[in-house]
Amino acid sequence: MKDKRKYLKFSKGMLLYCGCVLVLCGCVNNNEPMPEIVYSPGLGRELAPPKMAELEQIDENSYTNIPRAWLPPSNVEKKWTAIIIHHSATEKGNAEIFDRWHRENNHWEGVGYDFVIGNGTDSGDGQVEVTFRWRRQITGAHCGGTSGNWANEDGIGICLVGDFSSKTPTERQMQSLVKLIRFLQQQYGIPKSRIYGHRTTPGARVTECPGDKFPMSRLKSMLSY
Ligand SMILES: [Zn+2]
Repeated sequence: MKDKRKYLKFSKGMLLYCGCVLVLCGCVNNNEPMPEIVYSPGLGRELAPPKMAELEQIDENSYTNIPRAWLPPSNVEKKWTAIIIHHSATEKGNAEIFDRWHRENNHWEGVGYDFVIGNGTDSGDGQVEVTFRWRRQITGAHCGGTSGNWANEDGIGICLVGDFSSKTPTERQMQSLVKLIRFLQQQYGIPKSRIYGHRTTPGARVTECPGDKFPMSRLKSMLSY
């Protein structure tokens, strides 16, 4: 009798346990894609993954195929509030070449921008290069003269290779720029009104950058907010 009761108790326990296991398995085995978990290398300890699940809820489509390098390490991530667009004012170039120029001519720590978008000369057409400034989430050196240096402190600097005083960016450059900006807008809640060409950045020194042929209104029309 005692044994039978014990057995019943055990069976109930097993049923409960199996139920729980099934429920848990069900959660994992549905067809929802699991958010991609990226661990940032660095301090030799495991870092919290980026807030992908949260972001996917805002706009799933824009978060497909985002290169890992665009995601900043979460332990040093800054709160960026603006995006500032530049041209290189040269026909050719890439992040490495600008890095050398900025070191040698300006005596900076390295290339002033966070991202460089190639035009098919010294890097791929539409290729987005991520610089050390973005990887380390440090102040930029691309838009001087603003009050409290806000544009370098809080603005993300994107440079497109090319001289847009005389010609327009390539279609692939524009596609990559839009994709990158959409990602940054969602990551930091930056509205269209906080996306500037270098020369229209409030407080910036007088410059032609990013050139008369840079299609700013077309760019804005390709962004949703
Ligand atoms: Zn510029």
